[in-house]
Amino acid sequence: MKEVGYFTHSDCMIHQMGYMHPESPMRLEAIDKELQSQGLILDLIQFESEPASLAQIKRAHSCEHVREIEQIGRNAVISGYSPIDKDTSMGPGSLRAALLAAGAGCLAVDHLIAGNIQRAFCATRPPGHHAEISLAMGFCLFNNVAVAALHAIEHHGLQRVAIVDFDVHNGNGTVDIFKNDERVMVCSSFQHPFYPNRHFDTLGDNLVLTPINAGSKGHAFRQKVERDFFSALDGFSPELLLISAGFDAHTEDPLGELNLIEDDYRWITSMINDIADRHSQSRIVSMLEGGYHLGALGRSVSAHIEMMLNG
Ligand SMILES: [Zn+2]
Repeated sequence: MKEVGYFTHSDCMIHQMGYMHPESPMRLEAIDKELQSQGLILDLIQFESEPASLAQIKRAHSCEHVREIEQIGRNAVISGYSPIDKDTSMGPGSLRAALLAAGAGCLAVDHLIAGNIQRAFCATRPPGHHAEISLAMGFCLFNNVAVAALHAIEHHGLQRVAIVDFDVHNGNGTVDIFKNDERVMVCSSFQHPFYPNRHFDTLGDNLVLTPINAGSKGHAFRQKVERDFFSALDGFSPELLLISAGFDAHTEDPLGELNLIEDDYRWITSMINDIADRHSQSRIVSMLEGGYHLGALGRSVSAHIEMMLNG
């Protein structure tokens, strides 16, 4: 069994974007409940996240963006909800949660590099992969996985980091941040055409973008991901693998229109395990992105973590 860290913080629950918003604190409760009932929580080494520093976040974002989010977050403490776009807003607890979500990945990287754990899952929110260099959107304020990748490179001196994003939505923010950065390979599968409709055809030797038709099932998903991702990752030989782990391509998810099931998440996790075993001393940091059907989210995260432990 691998040593897997579980990074979370109770203050990630205080970020709220309004009544009935699908990106709700109940998502973390659903994950926790399923890990408890499966007994998996006992196999994980638990860590409390720490807030990212502004310097860590500025590796991925412009100073203006960080200043703006800080300002909106501070205003929300006084005035209640502050909208950013039609799906995204900040409430009184949002800035703290966003710093903890970005900090979880950095802390997980620190523990991995120190050899305390081999793999990590960050159960944090808000998610991050839609946040571009200077733009918060799609429930995302800071790009957590990008901040973690740049922490591994610029603080720990790694030279090649890969990000695998299997959320139903394209990781446009991650592509935006790394589109001219050969140190990071970004592999993103996504329903297309679909939200966010940004950076789905951006070109670069380090970008592997895999559109998937609405209505596709696991078989088509596996075929395309296997064709596109794994030889590219083998060629790149990452020293660390990061995952933008969104579970909204699940067939029960109310936002996505792909038809994956828990077994598909087991499959992709085991494929990523193999790449990590070959190139990165098994090191994987997986960070929660989407997933909005509470039951399916709990079961899918559970399947993903079970494979990280045992694969
Ligand atoms: Zn998503």
